[in-house]
Amino acid sequence: MKYISCIHLEHGITFFSTSVQICCISSHPGGGNITQINNYHGELINWDELFANRKIMRENIKNGIVPEKCTGCYYLKENEWNSDNYIDEVLIGHFTHCNCNCIYCYTEKDKKFFNANKTYNIYPVIKDMIDKKVLSKNATITFGGGEPTILKEFEELVYLLLDYDVYNIRIHSDGIKYSSAIEKGLKLGKITLITSVDSGTPEVYQKIKQVPCCEQVWKNLARYAKTKNGLIRTKFVLIPGVNDSLSEVKNWLKKTYEAGITNVAFDIEDNWFKEHREKIPQYVYVICDFVFECYRQYGIDTCELYERASNLKIDRENRLK
Ligand code: SF4
Ligand code: SF4
Repeated sequence: MKYISCIHLEHGITFFSTSVQICCISSHPGGGNITQINNYHGELINWDELFANRKIMRENIKNGIVPEKCTGCYYLKENEWNSDNYIDEVLIGHFTHCNCNCIYCYTEKDKKFFNANKTYNIYPVIKDMIDKKVLSKNATITFGGGEPTILKEFEELVYLLLDYDVYNIRIHSDGIKYSSAIEKGLKLGKITLITSVDSGTPEVYQKIKQVPCCEQVWKNLARYAKTKNGLIRTKFVLIPGVNDSLSEVKNWLKKTYEAGITNVAFDIEDNWFKEHREKIPQYVYVICDFVFECYRQYGIDTCELYERASNLKIDRENRLK
């Protein structure tokens, strides 16, 4: 039976520092953030209970009752959804500590707190998902957070997933700390590494990241790129008023290519986007269109649009209809 749902509602799970949610998508009108378990600190999950709750939700969705928090989300689509009990969309985002200081990060509010914030060890939970055959081998596992490479269990966890033969592991890392597990996963072609550099010059990098690591990050990225097999994307989060010049964007594309990387990702700063969504200045469209349309001129093969950039495109298309 075909019905409107989304990959996360059907088979997703997101681990945050004190809760388990269905997804981490939040820029659409409904606001997202559907909680599954509150006050969560790394306990093993009762999967029978979780799947029983999913079943109730699925039946509601089949009857056209989609959670209010999903309203307007572009992930919703009509499909022949599989109702078996398994998880194949996992976001690991239970940690908030980082070795970088991006001005747009939610941790910027209180860096000291977020860096000291105690987190749980997620390794046993993922191992349990594997042992109980809850985790599909076709799963997409995404690391967000925080900086994953400085997580205590990170290397062991990535090796566990590689051994289990999961082949779609997406890691958002700032690229400051080099990781042998990432290198191995890239060599095996099972990891996508996304590093947000947000700049094409050291000056703007410093202004945004507030750490003197620009050169080191590009050096690490070039080293990862030598593995050839895996997918690496450098990312640019457009922050109007900070890195919003075409020359910065062009330098970013150029530096990416020079590092041996041919894939990028693009987004717009979350708070700014939410505030200006109904009134995007023309020059922001010009920069976005340049990225959407001209990245190939720099030897780049693909440009993945993240949540806000996708919303910007969809909003404009809808307005033009
Ligand atoms: S529809 Fe959007 S908000 Fe709702 S679960 Fe799916 S991704 Fe999350
Ligand atoms: S790298 Fe990520 S987690 Fe770290 S400060 Fe930047 S946005 Fe925040």
